[in-house]
Amino acid sequence: MSLIVQKFGGTSVGDPERIRNVARRVVATKQAGHEVAVVVSAMSGETNQLVALAKELGGQTPSPREYDVLVSTGEQKTIALLVMAIHQLGHEARSFTGAQIGLRTDGDHTRARILSIDADRIRSAISAGEVPVIAGFQGTDDEGNITTLGRGGTDTSAVAIACALEADACEIYTDVDGVFTTDPNMVPAARKLDRISYEEMLEMASLGAKVLQIRSVKFAMADGIPIHVRSSFNEGEGTWVVREEDVMERLVVSGVTYNRSEAKVRVLGVKDNPGVAAALFGPLSRAGVVVDMIIQNMSQDGTTDMTFTVPREDYERAMELMKDHAASVGAERVEGDQEIAKVSVVGLGMKDHAGVAAQMFEVLAAEGINIQLITTSEIKISVVIEEKYTELAVRTLHAAFVEAGAAEPVAEV
Ligand code: ASP
Ligand code: MG
Repeated sequence: MSLIVQKFGGTSVGDPERIRNVARRVVATKQAGHEVAVVVSAMSGETNQLVALAKELGGQTPSPREYDVLVSTGEQKTIALLVMAIHQLGHEARSFTGAQIGLRTDGDHTRARILSIDADRIRSAISAGEVPVIAGFQGTDDEGNITTLGRGGTDTSAVAIACALEADACEIYTDVDGVFTTDPNMVPAARKLDRISYEEMLEMASLGAKVLQIRSVKFAMADGIPIHVRSSFNEGEGTWVVREEDVMERLVVSGVTYNRSEAKVRVLGVKDNPGVAAALFGPLSRAGVVVDMIIQNMSQDGTTDMTFTVPREDYERAMELMKDHAASVGAERVEGDQEIAKVSVVGLGMKDHAGVAAQMFEVLAAEGINIQLITTSEIKISVVIEEKYTELAVRTLHAAFVEAGAAEPVAEV
């Protein structure tokens, strides 16, 4: 017998018929002899509606505490409805809010971090023969205030609960069949991966693949809990996110991702002195602007250029801050561009395979796509290009690396 945590996302519980379907799935898992705990999101569209209401009545920056009180209600509806549907099938179940399972977080409203979970409360429901149905996305801080974990946070609730229960697996039920080599809506030849490592999944999630919240992958990786991303609309196997050594097929490139929600800022003619980077990035960080790629050119005649990317919604703020601080670092001027895209290739096999970067640049050059910025890590290469070439870049890179390379995974070294 194994203990499985099942997470159902918003589309999986999007209407009463789908909630009934989830109830049947949960009961079937129990009848197959497993112990099961369930974690659910709000019904699809619900959280967006709540966020829109918060803005309508609370302005652009509603009180974070009240925002959390409001948006956490979406999940609370789902837990009650799912338990009712399980009861209709003649099985025992009980709903729990974040507070009721002692899911404690820090007090950083709207993006709180999980500190601890009272696993005993969940275990006793399971031993009493009940299916615990837990509200994702929410917890409480040490003063009892309701907190939420950031958009997509139910993934993190589910994995953290799986870790606390030392579950055998955490199943993430969603509206796609698994993790794909790229966005199937953009590239019809995209294929589902059977397995992918935590490291690759982390890169893909931070690079724009939206199937899992990044923090959930970090939790799973720390405890080695396997995540199974699969569809709630069919019985097929999805994608297992597992330890590197459990990935059989060590592909050079297992994913091509893109992100069109960043903008580029360039500070030109900065003095090449100690403290310059701190003087520019300090104000950004204090303003809560998260900087992604940073590139500093080699200096010539004692001056250099600093280029970086920020979320597009923070672009205006970043430009203003840079203009305010440019003079203090002797910069000549500040330029920016919002029409950019970051396109990346990710794969474990890059660790032991030379020439991937060169091949990537050749593929893009052959299409006449100019590369503006490049960053790399051990298992990924990212480039910034003009936004209008996103689809072309993704299609040709997928064709060159995934479709052509699919038949010949790199041998283990
Ligand atoms: N309902 C929340 C959201 O839409 C949390 C989640 O679904 O994971 O972001
Ligand atoms: Mg999600």
